[in-house]
Amino acid sequence: MLRRTILTSMGLAAVATGISEREAAAQDKTLQAGRGMKSPIIKDVSVIAVQPGGVRLVVVKVVTDQPGLYGYGCATFTQRAELVVEAVEKYLKPFVIGHPTDRIDDLWQAMYNASYWRSGPVLNNAISGVDQALWDIKGRQAGLPVYQLLGGKCREAAELYTHVNGADNARLIEGVRAAQAEGYRNFSLGLGQGGNEPASGKVLTTAPVFDREAYLRDLLKMLEAVRSTLGDEIDITTDVHERITPTQAIRLCKDLEQFRMFFVEDPLSPEDIDYFRILRQQSTTPIAMGELFVNPHESTPLIDERLIDYIRCHVSEVGGLTPARKIAILAEMHGVRTAWHGPGDVSPVGHCANLTLAVSAYNFGIQEMAAFPEASHEIFHGIPLVKNGYGYPNEAPGWGVEVDGKAAAKYPFRNDNTERGKLNGGWGELRLPDGTLIHP
Ligand code: MG
Repeated sequence: MLRRTILTSMGLAAVATGISEREAAAQDKTLQAGRGMKSPIIKDVSVIAVQPGGVRLVVVKVVTDQPGLYGYGCATFTQRAELVVEAVEKYLKPFVIGHPTDRIDDLWQAMYNASYWRSGPVLNNAISGVDQALWDIKGRQAGLPVYQLLGGKCREAAELYTHVNGADNARLIEGVRAAQAEGYRNFSLGLGQGGNEPASGKVLTTAPVFDREAYLRDLLKMLEAVRSTLGDEIDITTDVHERITPTQAIRLCKDLEQFRMFFVEDPLSPEDIDYFRILRQQSTTPIAMGELFVNPHESTPLIDERLIDYIRCHVSEVGGLTPARKIAILAEMHGVRTAWHGPGDVSPVGHCANLTLAVSAYNFGIQEMAAFPEASHEIFHGIPLVKNGYGYPNEAPGWGVEVDGKAAAKYPFRNDNTERGKLNGGWGELRLPDGTLIHP
């Protein structure tokens, strides 16, 4: 109606000023482009907190003042999930209600600065929930999947890797063959380490035990067995989980050169980050790092000095799609590729964000993606397709995900009798045989 009024007045203006109908129509288009679309305004923010399998997922829903226009964002920090729920409900909700949804980076900066002390996993996840919901809303408004808003695809789908762990080498090789039959070509291989061992002469703790030198010996033997049985064609990664000392990590990366790893993940902890410079000078084994970063700027020195090959931040832990795409662009300029963290404690919405970055960033490396439990399919409609070892972002507008509220209500957080249930979703301890605590 408004448009017709404008056109009519432009038409009359055309007659009055003597310009042609065509010129008037062009001027009308310029006027409309300059004015832009009406900004949706944030009307409500709510949190969907669910535990469809072993892990707790947190998803934020942002509702606008425009009928039927809303979006979802992943805010999953499973070990401290209830704190993220509070951060969204008590702080971000009152802060963002009334703001327009269409200035995503502007609102991201406002949320990031609103706590004065910035960053950290709880606040970043809360921000990510709103941030990703705004990208979902923008995609829904445009009628486009979010990857189109980032410039479109650089590739048809994202090459995935899958995890295979085995109690012994024979069972691990069996596991790789089973995954190959499903279409996977890339494998993150792990040993069945960290079990409870009865206290003995050597073991002075009843907590799960990690023996560093035994791990290093077993890992090399396992890789020898895998390469000699399965050949050179498969791509292999392994996650050190920052459980060894810096000098052990340097020795390991040198020892692993013979196995032509796709990458070694987290050989050093964020606390030992300065060792990357020394590691880089001594080994050609490709390095992946970033899963534990909780500040969008933590990646900068590693990328800037080209000390790693793959940046693998957990997108919601660094604050959402907005900072993650900046990290990806910085990485591209330095020859570093992406391998976003994609375990089971990322919601299907978060996996859509990962796949969106994976297909739209030129410097994509590989993507980790978890299988979803049955209950996740009941709650989340539009879980992205995995086929022949590739992950596909949805083609529906936004993330292409809908949450079934009734199904979600069936799977609240559980404080059951499992170890993680008793720890309210948190992780337990891992210790050296003498009882020294190390990274879990
Ligand atoms: Mg990892």
